[in-house]
Amino acid sequence: MLRGISYYLLFLILTLSGASTCSALDRDDFLRLRERMVESQIIDRGVNDPNVIKAMKKVPRHLFVPEKYRAFSYADQPLPIGEGQTISQPYIVAFMTEALRLDPGDRVLEIGTGSGYQAAILAELISEVYSIEIIEALSKRARETLDRLSYRNIYIKTGDGHKGWPQKAPFDAIIVTCAPEKIPRPLIEQLKEGGRMIVPVGRAGGVQKLVRAVKKGGGLDIRDVMLVRFVPMVMGDD
Ligand code: SAH
Repeated sequence: MLRGISYYLLFLILTLSGASTCSALDRDDFLRLRERMVESQIIDRGVNDPNVIKAMKKVPRHLFVPEKYRAFSYADQPLPIGEGQTISQPYIVAFMTEALRLDPGDRVLEIGTGSGYQAAILAELISEVYSIEIIEALSKRARETLDRLSYRNIYIKTGDGHKGWPQKAPFDAIIVTCAPEKIPRPLIEQLKEGGRMIVPVGRAGGVQKLVRAVKKGGGLDIRDVMLVRFVPMVMGDD
């Protein structure tokens, strides 16, 4: 609670001092905010995979957030990234990543590139990340951000994630960061036997069920994990 308040105090101070909320903070400030974010929002809430924790401490989340919201980059909430879309709350990113139980050699498909932040976290942990984003302006910006940070193992394409990426299948794990009403069949087909999938399932505008699934005997063994609220997975034109 106190930590939550301190973010608002920080914002208030920055606003009252008339400073641009971003330029008033330097790299070391962001590093401190990120360390604190990982301790209080991620470790204290039970995420304990050391590789996930290391990745969350390393990736500069503020560089994935539009300048006007940068002071809030490490706050316990999703933030707008333009085009009516959001970058997920840090805890949700860490939780979903841990739930995939990744190995360093894994190849993972993400649906909903958004800012590219989740893809960067994955790229710290595994060999190849494939990410699909339906809004071109976002996939372009994500590409630029990830290039600036020198990520070489993230492949992004603009398109409808309902179809998956058959040319690059099968995947060891699939993470969906927008909410479909039901899990698209091509994604099940493109998951390896024994592969893991994490996806928020449910209607647009409401609460969705975050489910974790493991592919067994060609089908999915599905467990509900928590209630979440994601932007909808929209249908493509073709
Ligand atoms: N993972 C992102 C946050 C995703 S927000 C990050 O780390 O920032 C969800 C994203 O899913 C939005 O950018 C939205 O445009 C995208 N999306 C919605 N429907 C989609 C679809 N059918 N295929 C691919 N992307 C989709």
